[in-house]
Amino acid sequence: MIVENLIRENIKLLKPYSSAREEFKNSASNLVYLDANENPFDTGLNRYPDPQQNLVKAALAKIKNVSIEQLLLGNGSDEVLDLIFRVFCEPKVDTVIALPPTYGMYEVLANTNDVGLTKISLLDNYQPNVDEILKAQNSQTKLLFLCSPNNPTANSFNAGKIETLIREFNGIVVIDEAYIDFSSQESWIGRLNEFPNLIVIQTLSKAYGLAGIRLGACYSSTKIISVLNKIKPPYNVNQLTQQTALKALQNSIKTNNEIAIIISERNKLKTELEEISFIV
Ligand SMILES: *Cc1c(COP(=O)(O)O)cnc(C)c1O
Repeated sequence: MIVENLIRENIKLLKPYSSAREEFKNSASNLVYLDANENPFDTGLNRYPDPQQNLVKAALAKIKNVSIEQLLLGNGSDEVLDLIFRVFCEPKVDTVIALPPTYGMYEVLANTNDVGLTKISLLDNYQPNVDEILKAQNSQTKLLFLCSPNNPTANSFNAGKIETLIREFNGIVVIDEAYIDFSSQESWIGRLNEFPNLIVIQTLSKAYGLAGIRLGACYSSTKIISVLNKIKPPYNVNQLTQQTALKALQNSIKTNNEIAIIISERNKLKTELEEISFIV
């Protein structure tokens, strides 16, 4: 499959907005940018933020062992998901596949982008129905959403099934790993280089406890990331979010402790629930 052929024509031709801060270099942070019409009085926030979020990306790239060019940040993963729709899906023409019961935003975003949604229900064991998914695709099917671990069923999808879907689906496979930090499964970020049609989404909203700052991330090939970058709003991640995220990413001990507590509480709750006879 050639990923280039999946990108909408208008997006391929698009010349991105070039912001005054596009050439942002941290070494120049003490300069006054007259061309951006920034207020000269120092409020701590009178400057436009770094549109490429270089410091946050550098921290994340190191943690995830990817290059900065394989990483795009958004105003929550919801923005990242919306950008993916807008790069690949022609309104009223293209379609996407989601596997209910799952995260509601895939359907909302399909509707707001006027993109058809095909639903292929999960099997009784909450695993993807690989045969039905592959049968349901056609030349207009651009995206397949795999939420693993899945919201709301909590299980991870079988890695072999995911790999079959990535290899045999004719479009982009988006794996939403919002809950990956609570899982014993490996992230698919480690296998990005094997699959040109794979996008992995993560967020600081859950394991990092930072839903309020709105920071989502997507990891993919440099090709896909460069196209998503082209259409993102120039200052989509604000200064306060970048500062808070950077601090959190530099304090992995705290986050890892909290994740361990949440997992142990989850196990306790599971054991207790299993004691109640009318809960199956
Ligand atoms: C919570 C959640 C997200 C996070 O969305 P943000 O916009 O980053 O807060 C993404 N996907 C799933 C499945 C979720 O449950």
